Amino acid sequence: MQNNRRPLVAGNWKMNGSLELAAELQQTFQQASLQNIDVLVCPPFPYLQGFDVSVSALGGQNLSQYNSGAHTGEVSAQMLKSVGCSYVLVGHSERRSDNAESNELVASKVKVALEQGLTPVLCVGEAEDIRDSGEFFDFIAAQLDAVLNLVGIAEFAHIVVAYEPVWAIGTGKTASPEQAQEVHAFIRGYLANLDSEVASKLRILYGGSVKAVNAKELFSQPDVDGGLIGGASLDPQEFLNICLAAKG
Ligand code: PEP
Repeated sequence: MQNNRRPLVAGNWKMNGSLELAAELQQTFQQASLQNIDVLVCPPFPYLQGFDVSVSALGGQNLSQYNSGAHTGEVSAQMLKSVGCSYVLVGHSERRSDNAESNELVASKVKVALEQGLTPVLCVGEAEDIRDSGEFFDFIAAQLDAVLNLVGIAEFAHIVVAYEPVWAIGTGKTASPEQAQEVHAFIRGYLANLDSEVASKLRILYGGSVKAVNAKELFSQPDVDGGLIGGASLDPQEFLNICLAAKG
């Protein structure tokens, strides 16, 4: 990470955690000295309220494409903002698969998040069969295209992209630093064809079985600007160690 992009490490608790974990994490991070890096925590909705956003930034794991109304079970961008969120994960692979979120739906959620002043963390990445077929660049390009078509390249100045190969999420099978770098460079290059300045400032996070033991090597790749951490973010000390690995 030898560039001007400020590292970002985000924890995605998925459907895990508790109010006690929220308190423990904040205590652990309060005692740490983490300058020159952004830390983001994305707990389940019920644990958002009361999080001290001076300790870390706060994000939702999902948002509705609607702003209000008859959409039972949904949570709007405005609601996330009202409890202190400044970020929101959009298009996580588990939402794409569990909830059949299409590229177009993901794009509409990115648009709503941007309109309401939240920074979307746009998750992209291929499943194992697509990796094996060798067509993963095209697959990721299509995921990016849906968002580009709806919001345009200039809005990527307000977006974070997370490359999360589905075969590496929760599997313990991390992408090698070279594999991660190859895709991160592809994403940056793809966007640079449209706007080189926006692309050079874009933060691209790697996600997929990141742990304290492999974080430093992944984060040292030139186009890897931090991480999106699932399982390991449920252990405050481990998550802190991963954040420290991104300090540069
Ligand atoms: C994730 O949930 O986005 C993720 C990367 O999970 P894990 O770190 O557990 O692979």
